Amino acid sequence: EALLKKANSARYYVRAHGGNKHQFYAPEMDEDIKNRLEMINGLHNALVRDELQLSYQPKVNLAEGEFHSVEVLLRWSHPTLGQVSPSDFIPMAEESGMIGELTLWVLRQACLQVHAWQKQGLPPIRVAVNVSGHQLQSSDFITALTDLLNETGLDPQWLEIEITESVLMQSPTAAIATLNKLRKLGIHLAIDDFGTGYSSLAYLKRFPVHSLKIDRSFIKDIEQSERYATITSSIIEMGKSLHLTVIAEGVETLGQMAFLKEQNCDEIQGFLYSMPVNADEIVRLKTNLQDQ
Ligand code: C2E
Ligand code: CA
Ligand code: CA
Ligand code: CA
Repeated sequence: EALLKKANSARYYVRAHGGNKHQFYAPEMDEDIKNRLEMINGLHNALVRDELQLSYQPKVNLAEGEFHSVEVLLRWSHPTLGQVSPSDFIPMAEESGMIGELTLWVLRQACLQVHAWQKQGLPPIRVAVNVSGHQLQSSDFITALTDLLNETGLDPQWLEIEITESVLMQSPTAAIATLNKLRKLGIHLAIDDFGTGYSSLAYLKRFPVHSLKIDRSFIKDIEQSERYATITSSIIEMGKSLHLTVIAEGVETLGQMAFLKEQNCDEIQGFLYSMPVNADEIVRLKTNLQDQ
């Protein structure tokens, strides 16, 4: 399927030799392809034109009802297409080779934001950044990350990286080596979208991560489906037995929260507590909590 995707996108553009520029040709130019082209072209300019923004979503500790970390989610307001979803433009960034630059930009902004919050006198907040497989496999990534930490002077414990289970399972042995290097830098590591990537307990034991995020697709149905509820509690139990912090994604209802609390899940993230919001709103949420 990945190959097919690659073949498809190769029809829309060719990477110009040696440079960063892309040349485009479109044999069957329909609306959809035109939009794709506009997006890929636009992505190059988005960084320069300041069209990208970071949104932050709290990961709330269930025992305390408070948050100490947030996930960064990228937002793009395209001048003509409007709000473009990261589920659409991240895959394009991956295919077009822009993902490296984009990820480093997000990481830098995240580091700067943590500093800014600390300066404002907020209690420390850890920021989690999504990193795709392409990055994980690149040897330059660790170097760039090390440079970034040195340059921004951020204590690495306030930075977290989320990597999906399916990316880790593409080549688990290589992934373990990379995770070990990242862990040595002192940053936190999380397995994202857990439950969708078919890893085994044997692998999970070998991944040197701090936390595990249960995919939203399980949480969505825990109230209706006994099956999903059972799977979810098994994942929580498994994670806890490996001393991992277990986080449930996409928590939208009080019922889901009650179930997760009962099952000793550590943290929840989702619309129930907060949508992804801007940096100022995080300050407001955090300050309100302190006042209570
Ligand atoms: P993800 O890492 O699994 O992020 C969680 C997604 O679930 C986010 O969608 C978030 O807005 C959404 N969400 C959070 N709580 C709820 C809820 O209660 N209900 C529902 N229905 N959805 C909820 P978003 O922001 O559209 O991002 C989609 C995906 O795009 C992310 O999935 C991630 O894979 C990718 N992505 C976003 N930002 C970045 C980035 O900076 N770098 C990379 N490589 N990928 C990113
Ligand atoms: Ca994530
Ligand atoms: Ca996720
Ligand atoms: Ca997801």
